[in-house]
Formats: sequence, structure tokens, C-alpha cells
Amino acid sequence: MTIQEPSSISLLSPTGRFAPSPTGPLHYGSLLTAVASYLNIRANNGTWLVRIDDLDPPRQMPGAVSEILHALEVYGLHWDQDIVYQSKRQHIYDEALAKLQEKGLVYFCSCSRKDILERGERVYSGHCRKGHLAGRKQYAMRIKVPQTTLSWNDLIQGPQITELFQANGDFVVRRADGLYAYHLAAVIDDAAQRITESIRGADLLPSTSAQRYLQQVLDIEPPEYGHIPVAVNEKGEKLSKQAGATPISTVDPATTLCKVLQDLGQAPPEDLEASSVSDILRWGQKNWSLDNVPARHTL
Ligand code: GLU
Ligand code: ZN
Repeated sequence: MTIQEPSSISLLSPTGRFAPSPTGPLHYGSLLTAVASYLNIRANNGTWLVRIDDLDPPRQMPGAVSEILHALEVYGLHWDQDIVYQSKRQHIYDEALAKLQEKGLVYFCSCSRKDILERGERVYSGHCRKGHLAGRKQYAMRIKVPQTTLSWNDLIQGPQITELFQANGDFVVRRADGLYAYHLAAVIDDAAQRITESIRGADLLPSTSAQRYLQQVLDIEPPEYGHIPVAVNEKGEKLSKQAGATPISTVDPATTLCKVLQDLGQAPPEDLEASSVSDILRWGQKNWSLDNVPARHTL
């Protein structure tokens, strides 16, 4: 009899996450993401984590974290384990940056936003690869991005092919103000939390190639990615906390939750609205079909 080695992937139990930036209270679009990631993981008896992406203090709104968490509770979206706060993980990102430095993949960049704009670059061209201007107070750190094609399969949007450099240029991993950039922090934290699937808004679809490149160079097994349509306003603009989208109401969560299920293509029965949020989520979990989530970028 031969005993088969389990493959490394089977050692990881299904783990998903919701990673809001606390720039304002939860709005309808972020609730859609929270519910989709929650149901897709719970339907597989997996673990659902909440991470607070509070990397960028100037963009944060006081009180947003507790408002977001309160709304998740009202909507019955109970998370496992302790919440991770990116603001407390500087040292972990430092280690990742050191690894990239050892590999000779990152360099200092002295260009301001204005410099890049004036050169007419759509993405950063790699101007400082050969050396940066001395005498500036602060420098960003950028990663060298090769001219290659990355392809992967999005769980919802289907096959993706991206010209890595054309899409991202040499992107920033640490900003000139010393804050770590979203791509690096997200990749490191998804790996540290052993996230197996990242279900998030389609506004982040263009971020995925940059993140997959970081995973490649840091020897990280990428999670699966699935991008749900983002909610837009009458003008076709993405609902966003910064643009002042209406916070979701915590008064009648059952009705809103049924609308979320509807928008996620799950066709809940009409009388489900009369149920409690926990019963609605139970229905959602039992009847969940990722294949029925619309493969569009906007709702
Ligand atoms: N914090 C990001 C946002 O709110 C999402 C990060 C992610 O899901 O990768 O847009
Ligand atoms: Zn530069």
C-alpha cells in the first residue's frame, strides 16, 4: 500500500477575508463584498476573517472601524479569530521589503507625482532604476516590474491576461511618506493569514496582477481571486466612502440583505425578507452559487 503525501494546498483549510479600509462607514458596495466573501467561504465550512486596512492614517475617519464592525454584527456577519490591523504590522512589511531589497528588486525613486505627469507617463517608466536625484527629504521605493504577461483565472470574471509592466509600471511598495503601499501589505497579510480566496470588488481587479507579481517574487502561493461587480450611483461612479456614499442602514437589515442576495444573483424567495438575518444568511449559505454571481464589473 502506498500512502499518498497530501498536496500542500489540501493542508490549508478554506479561509476568506473581508478587508475594509476605515475611510468611512460601510456602504452598500462594501456590504456586497462582505456578504459575498462570507457566504462563499461559509458554504465550504471555511474560516472568515476581518482585516482592517488602516495603512493610511490621513485617509481614515475617526470612528469608522467601530461603525464598520457594528454594521457587520447587525448583518449577522460574525468573523472568526482576532481582527488584524495593518497599522500594527509595520515590522512585518519591513521584513518583506528587506527580502525584496536582498533580491535587488527595489530601488529609491525621487520623482514627484508632478515629475511623472510632466513626463507624460501613464504608468511609472522606471526612470530612477539607474539612480535617483539626491537631496530630496523623502524617497519612495519602487519595484522593478518585468515586461511579461500574467494570466490567471478569476473565480467570477473568468480568464484574465495582463501585460504586467504596461498595467502597473514599476509600482510603489513604500511611499515617500514612509507608509507601506496597499499591494505589498495586502499580499503579506493574505499570506500571513493563510487566505485561500480573496473575494472582493471588481475595482480591485486591476490590482491583482501587481499582487500576483509580488507573490511570485516573494515565493508566496497566491490565493484564488474572485471579483464581484461593484455598486455604482446614478452617474455610474463607484460607491465609495470618500465620495460620501450613504452608509448602509442598520434599521432593517433583513430587507437590505435580501437585496444583496438578489444583486449577487442568488434569487432569494420573496418571503425571505420576513426572516431574521441569521436565517437569511443560513438560506444564503445553503443555496450559495458562485457561478450565479454576475460576471460584470459594475452592477
Ligand atoms: N482595503 C481595500 C478596500 O477597502 C480592499 C483590500 C482587498 O480586498 O484586497 O478597497
Ligand atoms: Zn523616480
